[in-house]
Amino acid sequence: MNILENIRIVLVNPMFGGNMGSVCRAMNNNGITDLAVVAPRADMDMDEARKFSCNARAQLEARKEYETLAEAVADCTVVAGTSARTGFYRDTAYSPKEFAPIGLESAKDHKIALVFGREDKGLFNEELALCTHIIQIPSSELYTSLNLSHAVYVCCYEMFCAAGIFSPAEESAPEADSALRERMFATWREMMIRTEFVHDQKLDHMMMGLRRIFTRSKLTVPDAKILLGLARQSIWVTEQWKKKGNR
Ligand code: SAH
Repeated sequence: MNILENIRIVLVNPMFGGNMGSVCRAMNNNGITDLAVVAPRADMDMDEARKFSCNARAQLEARKEYETLAEAVADCTVVAGTSARTGFYRDTAYSPKEFAPIGLESAKDHKIALVFGREDKGLFNEELALCTHIIQIPSSELYTSLNLSHAVYVCCYEMFCAAGIFSPAEESAPEADSALRERMFATWREMMIRTEFVHDQKLDHMMMGLRRIFTRSKLTVPDAKILLGLARQSIWVTEQWKKKGNR
């Protein structure tokens, strides 16, 4: 089973449809699909919610609604409340990155919840009292409170990364071996002589510089062949130019 299926995002009494739609998108971007909404407002702009959810529209329609937070998290072991504010045990808060492995450990075998507050007043103390952990997203003193969907995004993103599901595309080309590298360096040396790029005394020094530049990152076989071809072509063009009596 996919561990992310055990992570529930709980929105408590959200105000704006746009935010709820953006939350759906943020969740799906990070592979999280269980959305619970506590005490949804009757006047929420659902057209806006649908608009902001974009391709996560099905996620929006699949949300579950509860009257109280206690009901929304009843089957969860870990319940992590999120807050930008200090006070009420918030000084023991975890960052999303610190919390992610803790949450995932429980999510292996149980449902867990990440709880987010209202746009205007956040989570009330009696709601935070239901939480086993508090998450505070690091932010500037200039403005500590994030937009609701941004806060959801950051927390979901850390859970997604910590789950280790995503594997970035890797370089598939084989690494150049010493023989190819040396062939390439020898041709570059030859090119520098033929094009009169450096004088004899400076040649070795320049070669050391080139060696440093070209081995600073992984040099693949295609990389080395491009560099080799470039040097060969430069030598050829220089010889043609000289044959035409240019020097
Ligand atoms: N004015 C409210 C801010 C609510 S922002 C207040 O003072 O609490 C809406 C929700 O986004 C918050 O309830 C919280 O769940 C989340 N959030 C916003 N900024 C956050 C931060 N820096 N750390 C953790 N959660 C945050």
